[in-house]
Amino acid sequence: MTELEKIRSQVISCTKCDLCKGRTNAVPGKGNPNAEIIFVGEAPGRTEDLKGEPFVGVAGKKLTEMLEKNGIPRESVYITNVVKCRPPNNRVPTESERLTCREYLEKEIQLINPKIICIMGNTACTSILGQGEITKNRGKIIKKDGKTFFLTFHPAATIYNQELIPLMEKDIAALVEALQKTNGE
Ligand code: URA
Ligand code: SF4
Repeated sequence: MTELEKIRSQVISCTKCDLCKGRTNAVPGKGNPNAEIIFVGEAPGRTEDLKGEPFVGVAGKKLTEMLEKNGIPRESVYITNVVKCRPPNNRVPTESERLTCREYLEKEIQLINPKIICIMGNTACTSILGQGEITKNRGKIIKKDGKTFFLTFHPAATIYNQELIPLMEKDIAALVEALQKTNGE
């Protein structure tokens, strides 16, 4: 079993916070173990909870479309969430839940060691960088603790507010460009 597979099995049987009580399935991250980009969302939704896979509902479809439009096959990246179990009625995960689940995200990042971590939405932004101003900071690269982060909207936000679609598409294109630059360095 690889280290990443170990994390996966720990997540699947984790009972460290109360979110385990309402879940159908825990949702570990999924994707290429050698990915150059990790995408981080908030928490599994209903479809993800039922399938045990991240971003497989409507928001996931949107994300997949945006990636593919920019020449990134979904299988080439790694996709995960700040918390791995669905909060009741999709409420925002609490600080305590996020902190309890944090070790899994940290290990995923450490093991995959991507070139860029793409933070999607305010919850992921607050959890990872300690501040959540996506609207102000989207499209930007932030370097912290030796890691490179890129900030954009949560794809679900583009479903509720369609005006955000071209903005998020622009961000994803900028992300690809930033990655190409990193590779050229
Ligand atoms: N929203 C998220 O933040 N994560 C998912 O996996 C699905 C929807
Ligand atoms: Fe464990 Fe995270 Fe699920 Fe809480 S949300 S039970 S910490 S995997």
